[in-house]
Amino acid sequence: MERTTCCVVGGGPAGMMLALLLARAGVAVTVLEKHGDFLRDFRGDTVHPSTLTLLDELGLGAEFAKVPHRLVEQLQVQLDSGLLPVADFRRIPGPHKHLALVPQWDFLGLLADAGRAEPTFTLRMQTKATELLTEGGAVTGVRYRSGDGGSGELRADLTVACDGRRSVLRDAAGLRARSFGVPLDVWWFRLPRHDGDPTGGIARFGSGQGTVVIDRGDYFQCAYLIRKGTDATLRAEGIETFRRRVAAMIPWLGDRVEAVGDWDDVALLDVRLDRLVRWSTEGLLCLGDAAHAMSPVGGVGINLAIQDAVAA
Ligand SMILES: Cc1cc2nc3c(=O)[nH]c(=O)nc-3n(C[C@H](O)[C@H](O)[C@H](O)COP(=O)(O)OP(=O)(O)OC[C@H]3O[C@@H](n4cnc5c(N)ncnc54)[C@H](O)[C@@H]3O)c2cc1C
Repeated sequence: MERTTCCVVGGGPAGMMLALLLARAGVAVTVLEKHGDFLRDFRGDTVHPSTLTLLDELGLGAEFAKVPHRLVEQLQVQLDSGLLPVADFRRIPGPHKHLALVPQWDFLGLLADAGRAEPTFTLRMQTKATELLTEGGAVTGVRYRSGDGGSGELRADLTVACDGRRSVLRDAAGLRARSFGVPLDVWWFRLPRHDGDPTGGIARFGSGQGTVVIDRGDYFQCAYLIRKGTDATLRAEGIETFRRRVAAMIPWLGDRVEAVGDWDDVALLDVRLDRLVRWSTEGLLCLGDAAHAMSPVGGVGINLAIQDAVAA
């Protein structure tokens, strides 16, 4: 029988940070991650000053600085009359007076490398937790399936569900989530960024629409807010209508909206917002999106997941 002290299910920000902190404290920890790598669809990349400070405290600040990233010092709102600064991170106390935009896979890779340097840390990729193991009502580990088609059981003193906003473990444990209605969904797409374009993050809202563009160096990661449930109807209006709407909202993007070739370039995010009433049951703790699914608005999800790990 396989055994560890702490079994962490999910190698996202919550799971990787928790595992690193536990391993640094000498606790035997095994992370099960169902994917073979950290490369996934765009999952957000806003690393806040609180997380940057934590990386410093863990001695990882210098490593983080080597990862390609952009620093954002202010956010601006697009008005008809021009750009209006609405947030200035240079006024935040502490050493990091900016947000850092770093691809989530690079950030997770950094945490994984730091973890692997610890003797009590194990990361098992392509290993999916399929069921909770229980004894006398208490969670005692998980059953898993590995990439080669094999399966097994990992027993642990504590199992931590960091398996994201569609957590199967929290459902399996019967933990109840309170859902908060969200009136919007988000379309994600990319547009090229040209020399001389505004830097940082720019947002525009109005007439039931919203667009946020995030400076990623040679491109903008763009979010277009739509009313919940209107994805199919709006797509039926055609890609040209969408391009025109984006150009009308942020006119200086009008010269490049053709870069959205067809609807395959536009990914739908079904936005959810919920929070568990109770985050734990005997032998099991839920952290990150598994405990409280976050919307992408404000770019707080990664950072709250990290803070969950620190608090735990
Ligand atoms: C499109 C989008 C954009 C976003 N933008 C931002 C942003 O800009 N800034 C920000 O801070 N937040 C953003 N967020 C939110 C942020 O991504 C999440 O809040 C954050 O990643 C939560 O971290 P987590 O570790 O709890 O869960 P996740 O990041 O969801 O990680 C869960 C992990 O568990 C793994 N997993 C799931 N089930 C199993 C299983 N059964 N067995 C093994 N492994 C499993 C998954 O593969 C995944 O790696 C965005 C989210 C989305 C969807």
